[in-house]
Amino acid sequence: PDALARAESLIATIPDFPEPGILFRDISPLLADAAALRTIAMAMAEPYVGSFDVVAGVEARGFLLAGAIAVASGTGLAPIRKAGKLPRPAGSVSYDLEYGSATIEMTDDLVSGARVLLVDDVLATGGTLRAGQQLLAQLGYTLAGTSVLMELTALRGRTVCGDVHSVFTV
Ligand code: IMP
Repeated sequence: PDALARAESLIATIPDFPEPGILFRDISPLLADAAALRTIAMAMAEPYVGSFDVVAGVEARGFLLAGAIAVASGTGLAPIRKAGKLPRPAGSVSYDLEYGSATIEMTDDLVSGARVLLVDDVLATGGTLRAGQQLLAQLGYTLAGTSVLMELTALRGRTVCGDVHSVFTV
C-alpha cells in the first residue's frame, strides 16, 4: 500500500493539455522510477495472475505498461496499433472519439483462444478499451481481463467497457 501510494504520487497532473480545459495525467515520472514501475506492473496484473498468456497494450502508452507487466508476469506481449502501422493487420476496429474517429489494428500471431490481458494507462470514456475488447474477440482471442493504471471515474468509462481493474481512481 505504501509503495502504491508512492507510485501514485509520481503521476503528474498537467492542466490544459493537449487542449484548454483538459487535465492530463502524465505517467512519465512514475515510469522513470524503478520501484514504482515494478509496483504498478504487479498491481495491474494482480487480479489476473495465472489466468492470462499474453498482455496486449494499446498504442502508445499502453505498450509501455504491457511490456513491464508481461516481463513481471512471465507472459508474452502483443501490440494493438493505430491504423496503418502494422505490415499485416489481421483485425481492425473503428470507434468514435470526442472529435472524429480512430481505428486500431492487431495481427493474428497469438495462438487461437489465447487468454489476453488488455491494458492501457488511462480509462476515460472507455471507447479505446471497448474497441480493444472487440478487436480481441474479432481475432478469436479470449479476454482474460481489462486493466488500467488510472480510471477517471467521472467519465464513467466502466459503463462502456464492463469489468475493469483500475489501480488508481481519480
Ligand atoms: P477513452 O477512449 O476516452 O477511454 O480514452 C482513453 C485513451 O485516451 C487512452 O488510450 C489514454 O491513453 C488516453 N487518455 C485519455 N485521457 C488521458 C490522460 O489524462 N492522460 C493520458 N492519457 C489519456
